[in-house]
Amino acid sequence: MTDIKVQPGIMDIAPYEGGGSDIKGANEIIKLSSNEGALGPSPEASATYAALQGELHRYPDGNCTALRHAIGHVHGVNPARVVCGSGSDELISLLCQAYVGPGDEVVFSQHGFLMYPISAMAAGATPVSAPEKDRTANVDALLAAVTDKTRIVFLANPNNPTGTYLSADEVARLHIGLPDDVLLVIDAAYAEYVECADYTCGAELVDTYDNVVMTRTFSKIYGLGGIRLGWAYCSESVVNVLHRVRGPFNVNGAAQAAGTAAVRDAAFTDRVRVHNRKWLPWTRNRLMDLGLSVTDSVGNFVLVCFDSIADKNAEDADAFLKKNGIIVRRMANYDLPECLRITIGTEREMTAVVDTLSTFLGRNET
Ligand code: PMP
Repeated sequence: MTDIKVQPGIMDIAPYEGGGSDIKGANEIIKLSSNEGALGPSPEASATYAALQGELHRYPDGNCTALRHAIGHVHGVNPARVVCGSGSDELISLLCQAYVGPGDEVVFSQHGFLMYPISAMAAGATPVSAPEKDRTANVDALLAAVTDKTRIVFLANPNNPTGTYLSADEVARLHIGLPDDVLLVIDAAYAEYVECADYTCGAELVDTYDNVVMTRTFSKIYGLGGIRLGWAYCSESVVNVLHRVRGPFNVNGAAQAAGTAAVRDAAFTDRVRVHNRKWLPWTRNRLMDLGLSVTDSVGNFVLVCFDSIADKNAEDADAFLKKNGIIVRRMANYDLPECLRITIGTEREMTAVVDTLSTFLGRNET
């Protein structure tokens, strides 16, 4: 025990648990627990990263200049309004640190990404969750949860772990319904995978309104989760705030260089998109054929639920998959104890997971 006092609320936080990565005694593992890119990183990014080994003593560019300009060029956004972070997790945390404190509320949807309540509580604020409908964020419920204490509304679009999304019209309706002094943070971590005509990542809202921020990550389609890189597109006033609270060199040099190469490697991201376009519906359809319920995910993962299956549950399915060397993600801490989240991996990995669940459910017995 120690007499050193920690800030109120910190010890109430349930620490974030990342996806598992090993199974005791197993030699070969299929890891589908963290929504990492199915095809790994871009070869250009890997080569750029490797070439930096002689430069480890150099401080990085604290302003991420080359990276921000590459992002601006590829994504059609103003580089002066891009702030980079050590993963989008850091940007979520910095936004909470800068904009909320004790007595304030942070709103997000029922099955929203866990870093929203964690970052809100770390800043001393109160997390407020709004009910979803059909495992999809609900604009009316989000607006009904807003009070005069609300300072930030987080919307993951598409959401992790459900994979469902709100259309551009619905996001605009959410924004219009918010008071001007509430920040809407659109977390578009999986935007690069979405191919629906009515979807927007939210950049145009950032261009138009001061109270909208969009966050993005290099951990998903770019396959760079290991080097921690994300970015936020913000109004000038939010940029000026984030530059005051971030560390002076918050993004390491290797991440900046690899990220710059990755964002320019359009041929690689196209390949990943083509892969996901095939294996996302393939996996979803096979799992539904087994009688499981699967959300209509537009990301690089599926949320599989066992509530419609008699005598079988997600916990046992997870244990069976593990016994067969396959790691997926339990969802109890997302208020979805009857579900598992499975990342879209390679053809071999998706075939293995479907075959193993089929055996678990006794569907392939003759
Ligand atoms: N937002 C969402 C919706 C996510 O799923 C994740 C990754 N699990 C993040 C943000 C954080 O990503 P990063 O690796 O950039 O911190």
